[in-house]
This record gives sequence, C-alpha cells and structure tokens, in this order.
Amino acid sequence: MPTSNEAVKLQHDAGAAPTAAEAVRAIDGIAPTTGTARQVADGVWWIRLPVAAGPGHVNVYALQDRDGIVLVDTGTNAPQTLQALTEALCILEPNHGTIRRVVVTHHHPDHIGLAGWFAERGAEIVATRGTLAVAHRMLHDKTLSRTPEEIDFAVLAGMKDLELAAFIRRPKRRYADGVAMLPNATSVIADGETLQIGKRCWTAIVGNGHAVDHLTLCSNDGLAITGDQILPGMSTNLNVPADQPDLDPISAWRDTCRRIGEHIDERSVCLPGHHTPFTGIAIRSRQMAASQEAVVSRLLEHLQRPRTAIDCLAAIYRRTLSLAERAFLFPEAVGYMNHLANRGEIVGLRRGKTMVWQKQRRPRGDTIRREASPAISRPYNFSSEVDESR
Ligand SMILES: [Zn+2]
Repeated sequence: MPTSNEAVKLQHDAGAAPTAAEAVRAIDGIAPTTGTARQVADGVWWIRLPVAAGPGHVNVYALQDRDGIVLVDTGTNAPQTLQALTEALCILEPNHGTIRRVVVTHHHPDHIGLAGWFAERGAEIVATRGTLAVAHRMLHDKTLSRTPEEIDFAVLAGMKDLELAAFIRRPKRRYADGVAMLPNATSVIADGETLQIGKRCWTAIVGNGHAVDHLTLCSNDGLAITGDQILPGMSTNLNVPADQPDLDPISAWRDTCRRIGEHIDERSVCLPGHHTPFTGIAIRSRQMAASQEAVVSRLLEHLQRPRTAIDCLAAIYRRTLSLAERAFLFPEAVGYMNHLANRGEIVGLRRGKTMVWQKQRRPRGDTIRREASPAISRPYNFSSEVDESR
C-alpha cells in the first residue's frame, strides 16, 4: 500500500519479540540497485523499484517460465518506476525471454500499477477475483470527493467538528493516477489453485486483512512471494473499508498467515513486497501478531473509559498524528475495535451516529463473541507466545 504512515508503523512494530535477530534472517541484505535485477533463487530475480509513497520502494519478482518471464507485481504507474523496471528487464529479457504473464498480489497501486501497461503489450494478467473487482471499480471511480458512505464511516469512528470538515474537504487521491487501465480479459486465480511457472509449481493462498483477496504464492521448493501479507521490519496495514464497517481485518490476516504456514517450513525463503527477502516466515508472522497484541494491551488500558476509535489513535501509534495521518489511519483503529469486540474484550454502544467502545467488564475467561462478519475468516488463536500480553 502506498502509505504515508510506514514510519509510524515501523515504530509500533519495533516492540517485536526479541528472537527477531536470531531467527528472521535476510538472505541477502544488499538490495539490487535501481534498474538492475538480482538473482535470489534458480530462475528467480528480485527487482526493486522506486515508488513515491510508503517505504519509497516496492519489490517485484521475475520468474523464469518455459517461454519467457512471469513478473509478480509491477510497481506504480509512474515514469520513474517504469523506467527502473524497463531497465532491469532489458538486462533479463535478452537471455530469458520477454514478459508473457504478470501476476499481481493485490490491488494497491504499488503492486498492480503497471499491469495494464504490460497487458497493452500482450502480457496475460493473472489476479484474484477480489483484486480485479476492486481495481476495476476504483479505476472507473472518477470522483475526488468523499462519498456519503465514507463520511458516515468517519462519523461512526468518532470524527467530528473541524476534523470532519477537513476530512470532507480534502480531495481523495485518484486511483487511476497510479494504476494503468486494466484489460477486461484477465485470468482469475482462486485459493488453492496452482500455477506452473518453469520447473516450479506455485500454490495460491488467497486471504484477507491487508487487501481484498490478497494473493500469496508458495512454491513446491520453499519459496513464498508474500506481497504485503508478511513483511520484514514493518507492519502491514490492516484497514476496515467504509463499505464493510464491521470487518475484522486482524483475524482475517492471522487466518491467512496460518494457511500460508501450512505450505512453508523454517527453511522457506520469503520474497516480500517491501524490504529484503528472508528466512523465518512463521517467526516473522508471529512477531507481527505480537506487535498487534502490544497495541491490544495498550487499547484495553485506554478503553477502561468509553472512547471512539478516533479517540484511540494516540494509544495505537503512541504519538500525536497530523490531520492527514488521522484521516488515513482511523480505519485501522476501527479494525482494532472490531477485532477486540469479536474477541469479547470490548463492547460497542451507538451514541447517535457514532460508536463508542469500552472494555468489557467480565470475569476472566468468560468470553462474549460478537457474530463475525461473513467476510471474516474464523478467529485464530495465533499462539501462546502471542497471547502472553493479554
Ligand atoms: Zn499493499
């Protein structure tokens, strides 16, 4: 996701379990320089592209197929990104063939942005149903103003007065500014399906939490291309969209990690969407969950008194946020509220159009669960290690 908050999120991820240095190891700390490709496995090249937002770069991977190259993710549709990618491909293509297929992990511009550019040049686009649906809808959404649904969602989260007025006034970024138009004919990949690319067979794990129908690919020889699902050194955004205000993205993300865990072992190499490829995928996902649990502990303390999701932003990020950051990050605060409500840790009460949350007063061990939204995968108790902080 192109974010202005990655620095913030890095901070609240910094409290990860102390085993990090021992068990999560970068396989090669030196990123390929702009415009080059670095081989990270037999027939797999890591290309790092500059993007304007977030951590300032995105990783894409070129995979050797029988008749050319399959590219996984593309970078944003922006001149500097395209230039870096074409330079890197100029090095690969003479010996390995042209780009025949582009597989995208999810609909965020830094991952799908140039897929349409490749499609125009004859490449087949492969993505999940949800990725394609959201991308097409957003590509055709030309409005720069907030929809009534988005405004209602902000009010529900507790936004009011001048902040709400500023939120309504601030124009949205247009998705089409960073994403090339996609063709109508695209190939859909579903959960559990396999892709044969060269000698490798990749299994698709389609999950939710970071983005609708986010795709992770796990190969039969210990590689996992994880997009923004599992990242080293930073947390992943787990937002609630305005059109599904009850969503619990944290449970969905954890369930996806659990399913990825069935396809990897401790030697598997993670090829993430940002930062550096590494080993220790299961440990890294536990660290990310532990980091979420540290936020949960702070929130439960903070919610001894009734508060809105917006009131909880400072407790989550541990600093005062700018108005722009608050507007961007409040859907993540809503995600924490929904998650804690599903766990029976807090209860929500409507006050007019706003939801106010408070810690559930109950004897320890007595759990009251709210019915999960259909889009939420079943709750998953990540591990006893993670639960210690509760
Ligand atoms: Zn993303």
